[in-house]
Amino acid sequence: SDQRSDAKSGQILRASLAAIFPQLATVEIDYCWGGLVDMTKDRFPRAGYHDGVWYAMGYSGHGAQLSTHLGMILADAMLGREDRNPMKGLEWPSIPGYSGKPWFLPMVGLY
Ligand SMILES: Cc1cc2nc3c(=O)[nH]c(=O)nc-3n(C[C@H](O)[C@H](O)[C@H](O)COP(=O)(O)OP(=O)(O)OC[C@H]3O[C@@H](n4cnc5c(N)ncnc54)[C@H](O)[C@@H]3O)c2cc1C
Repeated sequence: SDQRSDAKSGQILRASLAAIFPQLATVEIDYCWGGLVDMTKDRFPRAGYHDGVWYAMGYSGHGAQLSTHLGMILADAMLGREDRNPMKGLEWPSIPGYSGKPWFLPMVGLY
């Protein structure tokens, strides 16, 4: 994600919006934004504690709702209620043939 690719994505979304809802074709849009999305293999988030760091991640595109919820759950866990964390102790299955940098992403993007 960068400003140029985000603007390009915005144009594509804008065209789709106009195609699906023609009455919105001329509506002004205030903001266009983008960023990176992290995916887990099973598209299920992970949350817990590792090496002195509390984490909640891997929302796989559904973080707007889940990040708020897991924020509350992790706050409870920090206060000693780790039983509240349904993701505690989950394995992190990896994609076969992949570790480190996601070299395959450009191909996935093309697909
Ligand atoms: C293009 C795109 C589309 C998305 N679409 C959807 C969607 O349709 N539906 C959906 O549910 N989810 C969507 N998501 C995912 C969702 O936006 C995220 O999963 C969610 O915002 C994650 O919340 P968070 O609180 O974990 O992290 P963030 O929202 O990233 O919050 C982290 C905050 O920490 C701040 N920060 C970082 N480092 C520091 C530091 N060192 N000191 C102080 N502050 C720091 C950052 O500035 C930021 O404000 C989308 C994400 C992207 C990028």
